[in-house]
Amino acid sequence: MRPVTEHDIRTSFVNCSKGEAKRLGLPKDLADQPWEDLDFLGWRDPGAPERAYLVAERDGRLVGISLRATTGGSRGFTSRSMCSLCLTTHPGGGVALMTARRTGEPGRQGNSVGQYLCTDLACSLYTRGRKQAAGDGVIVVEESLTPEEKAVRTRANLHSFLDKVTG
Ligand SMILES: [Zn+2]
Repeated sequence: MRPVTEHDIRTSFVNCSKGEAKRLGLPKDLADQPWEDLDFLGWRDPGAPERAYLVAERDGRLVGISLRATTGGSRGFTSRSMCSLCLTTHPGGGVALMTARRTGEPGRQGNSVGQYLCTDLACSLYTRGRKQAAGDGVIVVEESLTPEEKAVRTRANLHSFLDKVTG
């Protein structure tokens, strides 16, 4: 994706208030992101660990989504989970259920969309083999897809998630 500025990010959010978009914590190293390897910019709020955000290009414009991570729950440390965007399998804690409030009337009625995502939102880097799942019990799934084919798949999964939030 093309590099984006703080202003681009703060004005891109579609499912939170303008006030929240103005206050939310940005990645500390925004200027140093590996933009050409990113399908979307995703990060955890440095000041609010249960919050996460992703910003993606869609039809030439930026779409920002505010997410809430569900921590704990019934999944123990021995279980593994798969990210629904990049299909990376992580041992316990590497994947979290994140919910996004839907836009428009459904959102006002309290509807949200939940999706299992890499907790660090670094799907683009896992997709390209630039980052590996870590921890006990990691399983590396050998796939015959090239990194570029995987990136296409990650973007397709991302777009269907965005459609569910904004549709
Ligand atoms: Zn992922």
